[in-house]
Amino acid sequence: MIYVCEPYLGKREQEAALECLRRGEISGTSGRFIQEFEQRFSNFCSVRYGVSTTSGTTALHLALASLGIKAGDEVIVSNLTNIATVYSIVYTGARPVLVDSEDKTWNIDAGKIEGKINKRTKAILVVHLYGHPAEMDEIMRIKRKYNLYLIEDAAEAHGAEYKNKKVGSFADIGCFSFYANKIITTGEGGMLVTDNKRIYERAQLLKNLAFSRKRRFKHFHIGFNYRMSNLQAAIGLKQLERIRYFINRKIKNAHFYNRLLGEVEGIVLPPCQPYVKNVYWMYCILVNDNFGLSRDKLMQRLKEKNIETRTFFIPMHLQPIFRKIGLFRNEKHPVCERLSRQGLYLPSGVNLSVEQIAYVCEQIKKIQKKG
Ligand SMILES: *Cc1c(COP(=O)(O)O)cnc(C)c1O
Repeated sequence: MIYVCEPYLGKREQEAALECLRRGEISGTSGRFIQEFEQRFSNFCSVRYGVSTTSGTTALHLALASLGIKAGDEVIVSNLTNIATVYSIVYTGARPVLVDSEDKTWNIDAGKIEGKINKRTKAILVVHLYGHPAEMDEIMRIKRKYNLYLIEDAAEAHGAEYKNKKVGSFADIGCFSFYANKIITTGEGGMLVTDNKRIYERAQLLKNLAFSRKRRFKHFHIGFNYRMSNLQAAIGLKQLERIRYFINRKIKNAHFYNRLLGEVEGIVLPPCQPYVKNVYWMYCILVNDNFGLSRDKLMQRLKEKNIETRTFFIPMHLQPIFRKIGLFRNEKHPVCERLSRQGLYLPSGVNLSVEQIAYVCEQIKKIQKKG
């Protein structure tokens, strides 16, 4: 089976994990790797401070909590995303307000944001989907004009750039995931990055049960236990040494796919605006009516050829759980809906060989011919 994505873990990661075990430094409050990982990863993002967490989801929740987002507030958010993005808003009691995608980047349609702003709006939470940055010029303009907080969900876009500036470094807070299929991994894990010292200190406090520095066991806030362990940070540091290689491999693979699939009728290649660095977390295509076979049929046939694929996310306004709690009823987001219906990702791991990519593309062409 050629899988959609497998992590690359080598000897260095094994050694680093063993070192923690030998020293007995395995928790989220012991050992030196946590701080070092926070420093090095935030530095990679060109941002001053990093706060490691247990996941991308908890990084997002911690970000919103550190900004004081609460019940009664509204947060504008990309509709086509991993559900964790919107969960994080729901956890705070604030109301998520969805914005449809745009065709040219598959990200939030910045032109539709201003129409959703009212006096309860506190923040915009923008997702860089599948490794392609959102339209940050326009989003930054809106943030400044309405004096809103901005958070970037860069869980799929480590190292991606918009006009030569790294994602995660535009907003008040950038959030990342280190889940096993993300660009680098700690198994489970995440991080928020910020240039603001006050936000940094608040996030460090809240993630560690809000232990106060004045008097231990006296608490002045509702905190969380979102501590990444030293064991995970050690692995993360070793992954970070390889991040440029991982990103270059993803980009090379995507270019190779583009070359082989460019001529195929009915296959839409992933967007890449000329002023961005797309890191192609996943290699995504759309299968439209001209292909002659539905997206789902194509996936089925590829599976028979031992090629794993996955559909795009399902838009948030179609999620049963949100409907059930009274959110997003009767909303229409036609671009998201179409992307979700037509989109799939092909095998995208950094371990893929050129032969495997050629095989995948050859099978797609064969399946189309046979109908
Ligand atoms: C993976 C992902 C998350 C959640 O990260 P976890 O580490 O799995 O909690 C959030 N947002 C996006 C866009 C993601 O892809």
